Amino acid sequence: MNRRDFFGAGAALGLAGVSALNASSALATQTTEETDKRAEAKLRISCQVGPAPGDSFEKKLENMKKYGCEAVEYGGECVGKGKEYRQKAADAGLEVSAICWGSHSGDLCSEDVSKRQPGIDDLKRALETAGEMGASGVIYVPAFNGQTKLTNPEIRSLLLEFMPDLAKFAHDCNTNIIFEPLCRMEAYFLRQVADGASIARDILRTAGVDSGIGVMGDFYHMDTEETSQMGAFISAGSLLKHVHLAGGVENPRRTFPGENSMTFVDGFRGLKYIGYQRFCSFECGCASDDREEAFKKTIEFLRSQWDEA
Ligand code: MG
Repeated sequence: MNRRDFFGAGAALGLAGVSALNASSALATQTTEETDKRAEAKLRISCQVGPAPGDSFEKKLENMKKYGCEAVEYGGECVGKGKEYRQKAADAGLEVSAICWGSHSGDLCSEDVSKRQPGIDDLKRALETAGEMGASGVIYVPAFNGQTKLTNPEIRSLLLEFMPDLAKFAHDCNTNIIFEPLCRMEAYFLRQVADGASIARDILRTAGVDSGIGVMGDFYHMDTEETSQMGAFISAGSLLKHVHLAGGVENPRRTFPGENSMTFVDGFRGLKYIGYQRFCSFECGCASDDREEAFKKTIEFLRSQWDEA
């Protein structure tokens, strides 16, 4: 059978065959109107401690609240101190969006098997803390460039071995492991949002749970790796658990949104389409000498981009 005959035979199966194929996918039976969740979407802004204006931790949280943030994103310093750090946020009128945990030096995906279990144990501690704080999840990078000698296919297979148990653990903690795709300057494994979503989907299928792992998008990395920011967010859908806000690669590079010419309208259209209600959190520098004024302006800029989207 040549290529033309093959497709001809497919067509001869008729409508019954087509509807049987469609029935295998719940999404395929939904109308465009049903998958369009724009009315539910909200721009909920969060900020890491570093980028916020203020000369102390308390002042930074106070300024986040003052300029319209709803949450703070912590680093690994909060692990094991969930109640204490949840209270610090609550005292400022904020929720906790996520823990930015990183790669644990790539240990979980190291070619050195002895390094993996200590990394897995530490990730569990971070997930327990995220659960205690009511956070969306723990942001996890499998490996930065140079942290593992395993190839991309080997890392993907390895994740499918140890992540299902961790996803179940995260599910029981009422939080998520959140894969962060990075640009090629920082990581060769996991660079696109859709790739992270696909790995998370496979892990959920193996784990037999409907949450506990997902993906995020960072506008800075997406500026290099994605052909469509809107398409990237739509392909993640309900697996999208977090977003990082930063300007793209053009100078001034990776600073507050609005400080370079990158637009957020296309990406925000994607977030609106999937009815995104989780947090978008600043992870970026500041090009201006007046950080407080720049913070106020970037939030105004993002709200106008959201309205335009
Ligand atoms: Mg990031």
